[in-house]
Amino acid sequence: MADSVHIAGGAAQDRNHPATGAPEKVVVADPPPEPDYPRYRVEPGEPARLGERDPDETEHYRSKKDVAGELAAARKHIGQLQARLYAEHHRSVLIVLQAMDTGGKDGTIKGVFAGVNPQGCQVWSFKAPSSEERDHDFLWRYHQRVPPAGMIHIFNRSHYEDVLVVRVKSLVPETVWRGRYDAINDFERQLTDSGVTLIKFYLHISRDEQRKRLQSRLDDPEKHWKFSSNDVAERAYWDDYQLAFDEALTRCSTPYAPWYVVPANAKWFRNLVVARTIEDTLAAMDPQYPPAEPDLEKVTIPA
Ligand code: ATP
Ligand code: MG
Repeated sequence: MADSVHIAGGAAQDRNHPATGAPEKVVVADPPPEPDYPRYRVEPGEPARLGERDPDETEHYRSKKDVAGELAAARKHIGQLQARLYAEHHRSVLIVLQAMDTGGKDGTIKGVFAGVNPQGCQVWSFKAPSSEERDHDFLWRYHQRVPPAGMIHIFNRSHYEDVLVVRVKSLVPETVWRGRYDAINDFERQLTDSGVTLIKFYLHISRDEQRKRLQSRLDDPEKHWKFSSNDVAERAYWDDYQLAFDEALTRCSTPYAPWYVVPANAKWFRNLVVARTIEDTLAAMDPQYPPAEPDLEKVTIPA
């Protein structure tokens, strides 16, 4: 029997037999590694180092097909855990989604939450604040949308915009936005202390991937509605945004409200990482159905 050669991903490879020198083909696939979602977490107290994280990462998966079974299972499990969370009516979950323009926030919501009862889940999208919102402290509008007991809320953009676009476009003086990192950490600490579990995702795409996605919105008439010249204008600030994200993720990834940097050039892999992170977080919360009324077995339903 020929010696085996270890090939990541299991691609066939030509080689010469080490002893006889005869040409041969050997394929030995690596066993799939255990899901390792904490590798995408920004360790509290350590720099996020966005520039060193690969937006093209897909682990050992090669295509959408490879993740289909695992994604479907994760979605189903999220649905089951969400039903318990809703029935328990005690704690709640806040999912924060941030990304560069075209980063895939909408697609992630669609792709991950398909199995969740809409009654227990709500999406809040934050645009530029209204004049009423601007008349309040910056956290006011977000605090009102924090999930109550039993609910999962998704923030499509969030309070982080106030240290992202606000910083990049100098919408307030630096002394003001600089003070917000601590304010955000205090806010999130307070939420955690009152039973809200936060999971924060930065969907990490490359500059070139953004170009492709903008181009496809131009090329495909069905995507024209998604095209915004403003996204093209904002693209000029790519480096400034990356810097702002880097600092926000570094300063605001805490043990109680961690940030995850999700490789997001491949949409299917992005959905898998987000789904399994939510699944694992919900499973660790271990929500329980409340106790039933006593003596249920003695109850008969009148005809
Ligand atoms: P879509 O996927 O539909 O494009 P979107 O989240 O990009 O979704 P848009 O209406 O295109 O929605 O953009 C919302 C805009 O609101 C963004 O440019 C964002 O920077 C801006 N915005 C969000 N929060 C704030 C804030 N606190 N201050 C100023 N601008 C904000
Ligand atoms: Mg937009």
